[in-house]
Amino acid sequence: MRDNKYTSHESFEHDSIDSLGYDWERIADPNIKSKLPFKIYLPRTTDHVVNAIKETSKLDQELRVRSKGHSSNDLVLNEDGAILCTEKLNQIINLDLEKMYIRVQSGIILADIDEYLAEYEVGLPIIGDHNHITAGGFASVGGISPASHRFGLFIDNVLAVEYVNWNGDIRCCDRIKNIEEFNRVLTGTGRHGVITELTCRIERGNKFQTVLYNDRKLFFKSEAFILDSQKLISNPGDCLFERGVWIDYPFGKTKIQIGQFSNYYKTAQNKYTRFRKTIAYGYLHMLGRWAGRLPKVIDILVKYLGILGIIISPRYGSVKDIESFTDKVLDSTVGDPTRMLIVLAPVESYAELFRSLYEICLDARKNHGAISFISFYVKAIKSDYLRIRNDSGKFAELMLYLGVRPEQMTNEILNEMVSSIDALCIKHEALRYMHTKTSKDRDILQKIDPNYLYKQN
Ligand SMILES: Cc1cc2nc3c(=O)[nH]c(=O)nc-3n(C[C@H](O)[C@H](O)[C@H](O)COP(=O)(O)OP(=O)(O)OC[C@H]3O[C@@H](n4cnc5c(N)ncnc54)[C@H](O)[C@@H]3O)c2cc1C
Repeated sequence: MRDNKYTSHESFEHDSIDSLGYDWERIADPNIKSKLPFKIYLPRTTDHVVNAIKETSKLDQELRVRSKGHSSNDLVLNEDGAILCTEKLNQIINLDLEKMYIRVQSGIILADIDEYLAEYEVGLPIIGDHNHITAGGFASVGGISPASHRFGLFIDNVLAVEYVNWNGDIRCCDRIKNIEEFNRVLTGTGRHGVITELTCRIERGNKFQTVLYNDRKLFFKSEAFILDSQKLISNPGDCLFERGVWIDYPFGKTKIQIGQFSNYYKTAQNKYTRFRKTIAYGYLHMLGRWAGRLPKVIDILVKYLGILGIIISPRYGSVKDIESFTDKVLDSTVGDPTRMLIVLAPVESYAELFRSLYEICLDARKNHGAISFISFYVKAIKSDYLRIRNDSGKFAELMLYLGVRPEQMTNEILNEMVSSIDALCIKHEALRYMHTKTSKDRDILQKIDPNYLYKQN
């Protein structure tokens, strides 16, 4: 199995005891107060999970589920309370190459599954950019990749789950048996119990070897980026992967504004394409390996080189290079603190939502100095799970990735931004990606949380 030392956040551990007092919000505010739990469960089996749930229930304690803590919406924190960590619930149970599925325990890291599957020339259809995301954590929020216009969300590729509900009962459900319950558990952010095992669909192909061609477009005006990306997201054609990025970077008294959209297509597999891929990604991954380990000034320079590499993204790359693109190039803990806020926009409202979200960020920058750079990462989604909201199932991920000035970004300003984003979502029948900060008001959540599209128990 792969060595997990490789990370895109050198100065931030999520496997230490101290890290259990934080979620990803720490990246937005390095001085945020720790919320350490009092008690931690480390189950290795489903029976251990049952015991943990029964024990906490007897003591009338709330139990929170945590995998690796990449969410930033207070979902995995329980100050002075009890946490169940899925860290050791991390085994591969069964690979069936005839029926094309893999069954795993929920705490396993998705990148480790893919590395295991590569030996059999198969892989997961949808995997996150970051290489420490777990199967259970991804299934509990949705799961998006640059292949989501073809394969939907990660949860569209989950065939069955075993979970333990809060009564301590072991439940099994899939698309045929108990579909209502199945849909409720997926995207459940740990509300309906602890997912212990998942059966996931796999696809044929060698992700590490197959080279694709990047048809990239550059933009220097936001409106041009918005209009073109709307078209590319609405009609991805026969491209295999696609993603776009818009960056608005203050630079002295001016600002650098640049956008890039990549569509990846099949190409010849020969020495030339492999050579181009190896040189380009060899360089970018070298930046990623050094990132976070250098003296501050050089680290920031390396980050700028990485951002440049993302904008002028390589013409040729392997499927693996494309799936985990930014994560292997940039270190989130270098430079300004950052925060993600994500909207899942019905494709027809994409342009309007993009403009309005941009306005919210520009206001926070101009009026409060709370934000430094503003960037949007966008991807197309066609999801069966989301069809219940929008017949076509066609959505766009609009990820705001913001540079934050923690002293100016008070809770009031952050909450105001989050409320405005949630209100926009309600207006456009969009959804929020729940691992990033949202309102806590139940009436609002019922309108923006994908899990509420399905009947609650
Ligand atoms: C750098 C970075 C890159 C990312 N890239 C992507 C990406 O490309 N695509 C994408 O879709 N997302 C991406 N994400 C978001 C990521 O998918 C979410 O944070 C997700 O929650 C998975 O993280 P985790 O496994 O650490 O889960 P955690 O943050 O630990 O948990 C998330 C939620 O799931 C619940 N949960 C976890 N495990 C279980 C379980 N076994 N049973 C029940 N509930 C459970 C928790 O209670 C919590 O509510 C990224 C995040 C970061 C920080």
